[in-house]
Formats: sequence, C-alpha cells, structure tokens
Amino acid sequence: MESIPIEREKRQAEVDRARAAHEARVAVQRAAEVAQRETEVAIKQADADLQKLEGRLNTVKNNAEYQATLLQMESLRRERGSYEERGLELLDDIETAKTVAVESAALLEEKEQEFREFCAEGEAFVAEKRGELDALTEQLRAAMADVDVNVRELYERIFEARGGMGVVAVEGNTCTGCYTSVPPNLLVKVQAGSAVIQCDACQRILYLPGSD
Ligand SMILES: [Zn+2]
Repeated sequence: MESIPIEREKRQAEVDRARAAHEARVAVQRAAEVAQRETEVAIKQADADLQKLEGRLNTVKNNAEYQATLLQMESLRRERGSYEERGLELLDDIETAKTVAVESAALLEEKEQEFREFCAEGEAFVAEKRGELDALTEQLRAAMADVDVNVRELYERIFEARGGMGVVAVEGNTCTGCYTSVPPNLLVKVQAGSAVIQCDACQRILYLPGSD
C-alpha cells in the first residue's frame, strides 16, 4: 500500500512533463502566428507608403526629386518582398507547429487519462483494504468481548508496553517475543493450556503453536 503514493507521484510527474512539452509546442506555434501577423501589418504599411510615393511622383518639381522618389519606391518594394517571403516561411512554420502540437496534445490526453484511471483504481484498492481492516477490527472487538476482563486488561497492558505484540508463540523452548528460553516448569504450564502464562523476561502471554 505504501507504493501507491510513490507510483502516483511518478505518474503525476509524467503528466506534468507531457503538459510542459505540449505548452512549449503551443508557445512555438503562437510565436510564429504573432510574427506572421507582424509581416502582414508591415506589408500593409509598405503598400500605404508606396501609394503615397506614387502620388508624390505627380507633384515633383524636378528630375532629381523624381529619380529619388523612384529609388525610394524601389527599396520599399524590395522590403515588401522580403516581408512577403518571411510571411510565407512563417505560414509553413505555423503548419508544422500545429502538427506537432496535435501530437503532444494527444500524448498529454493519453497521460492524463492513464493518471485518472490509476487514481480511480488506487482509491478502489484503498477502500477495499479499509473495508477489510474494518471487518478485522470488528472481529477482534467481538473476540475480545468473549475474553475474561482481567486477561483482556493484562493483554492490553502488554500490547501497549511491548510495541503491539501481546501474545507470542513458544518455539523450541524459546519465547519468540524476547528470545529468552522458557524454563521447563513454565513450559509445562503453557503446554497444559489451562491458565494464562506470561514470559518471565518480557511478560508477554505465551502460547504453543498448533494448540488453541
Ligand atoms: Zn519473552
């Protein structure tokens, strides 16, 4: 059960990585879209400037000014051409970025779906274990109700004092709670099974495996 939070963290990290990768690709697409719109604005501006210069051609006073205006228009047209080229490149970039963003979106969706399923399974597992634990606790409570009150109190005292282990088996004449050997006279009493017998060393209640 301890491994569920660790596994969950690992899977959450995978989802986060997929999301970051997707967001980075979307950011590339957006940046290309912004740059492409800027080229459109620049082209419109160049068209407006060219129109103004064309109008000026009709009002120039001399040939030198006429030639200068033509040169200005020529350089503006070249500039407009390079904006157009850049704009087309950016349209290609946007298409590529869209394609990879669709892939990363699908991967993100897949990871998110896996994570949701994992969480649902984990919750079901925890609920099942909690149910089993509740049933066992109820069984223990019922069993303890049948036990003599003095023995129950003794058991609970030892349970508290000895780290949750109040009753231990004797194996090969040894108390498996503290690993000291059980003296023969005590062992006989444990074998008889007619009274509650405690280990001399650790005070835990002793029983022989295979006997009730
Ligand atoms: Zn002992």
